[in-house]
Amino acid sequence: MTTEVIISSSYFVVALLFILGLKGMSSPVTARRGIVWAGAGMVLATLVTFASPGMGNHALMIIALVLGGSISWWSGKVVRMTDMPQMVALFNGMGGGSAAAIAAIELARVEIHNTEVTALAALGALIGSAAFSGSCIAFAKLQGLLKKTFRLPGQNAVNVTLAVLTVISAIHVVVSGTAAGLAVFFSLALLLGVTITIPIGGADMPVVISLLNALTGLAVGFEGLVLNNQAMMIAGIVVGAAGSLLTHLMAKAMNRPLFKVLFKPITGEVRPGGAGINGTLKEISALDAAAMLRYAQKVIIVPGYGMAVGQAQHKIREMTDLLEEAGVDVKFAIHPVAGRMPGHMNVLLAEANVPYEKIFDLEEINGEFSQTDVAVVIGANDVVNPAVRTDSSSPIYGMPVLNADHARNVIVIKRGKGAGYSGTENQLFYAENTGMLYGNAQTVVSELIKDLKELIS
Ligand code: NAP
Repeated sequence: MTTEVIISSSYFVVALLFILGLKGMSSPVTARRGIVWAGAGMVLATLVTFASPGMGNHALMIIALVLGGSISWWSGKVVRMTDMPQMVALFNGMGGGSAAAIAAIELARVEIHNTEVTALAALGALIGSAAFSGSCIAFAKLQGLLKKTFRLPGQNAVNVTLAVLTVISAIHVVVSGTAAGLAVFFSLALLLGVTITIPIGGADMPVVISLLNALTGLAVGFEGLVLNNQAMMIAGIVVGAAGSLLTHLMAKAMNRPLFKVLFKPITGEVRPGGAGINGTLKEISALDAAAMLRYAQKVIIVPGYGMAVGQAQHKIREMTDLLEEAGVDVKFAIHPVAGRMPGHMNVLLAEANVPYEKIFDLEEINGEFSQTDVAVVIGANDVVNPAVRTDSSSPIYGMPVLNADHARNVIVIKRGKGAGYSGTENQLFYAENTGMLYGNAQTVVSELIKDLKELIS
């Protein structure tokens, strides 16, 4: 068997491993296994690449692998679950940046006169550079390094002009067949990623992150074609397709068409003083809340970002077990964008061994709130904000929300008056049937468990 056949067959196995990995990751039950499959595919692809003909300096490749591998291993160990979205944005940026770097090298090789190859390299460079700089901005926003959203006057016109200029400079690079104009082209493409991402904030961030992910996949796929590397093509196509699907699903879940996300973004600016809010905040004690829960027949728990921050998932499971032993029917309602990354709440509840059959998506459970005695909103805010149904001035107007306000009683667990990710005030907290139970999620649920035990015994 020739080396080429061995390499192609190995890349076929890599493709299978990626697909098995993705399939596994589609459910929390098999997600860990999926990650191992996909990781094995990555290792195989890397090893096979060493054997590819024309691979120059193996020592440099090993140094890069050791450096990159150690940094990822270390960051994977130390990064907290709540900081995962930033990490995803960063890794995504690295993917786009690598594709752009490969393209830069290919485009700078003046001996390439194949227009087709140069055009593919330029396309990958454009998308990869924009995905790289856009992901860096997304990282800075999610990490809190960039707190403000900047919107230039005529932002959309600026973006469109910049996009047109970038495409023209890409065409110049391809047509001239030389490295001339490369610096201008890359600067424009990088700037484009910044100007597209910087005005976007608030509840639009999940859609943007998955869009950047899809773009990175596309860029890697194009560079795979340039290098004639099947593993890169497959990985690029798989990431591009998965990212596009996720973008579509997230945009649908948010009821925010992609056009609006890009051209009429939610800025995430905090609106002053909760305009249009009626009622007062009514504080309740843990004992009041425990009594309400103990004597309820049906309880729905709505977890949000604060549950992740407070790492309250294990205590929530303990509380659920207690309530069920006392004969209370307990379910979990998960909003598609609760937390800070797709599936964030599902992962945490799975980690705490909450049975999957107790966990319901928005469409499955929304009709049940009106027959529910108590809705427990733990560290969630935007995903239960009823104003988004009617207040057209709300930055998250139109996003589907969980109908926690339809329950007979609502207990909201949060630390204070902190706003949600979109920066909007929440009418639910001021409603007649809502009691505010202030404190860190884990501490409060521990107190609830203590009080429940006394009430049940
Ligand atoms: P949220 O709107 O961000 O609200 C979280 C609430 O949790 C805050 O109001 C905060 O109030 C409270 N909190 C924070 N730490 C807490 C703790 N230790 N203990 C108790 N409470 C705590 O969360 P959400 O309802 O889950 O909505 C998610 C938002 O993030 C949406 O706007 C979504 O679009 C956006 N987003 C989602 C993703 C995704 O992929 N899922 C990605 C990026 C952005 P206090 O400060 O008063 O405690």
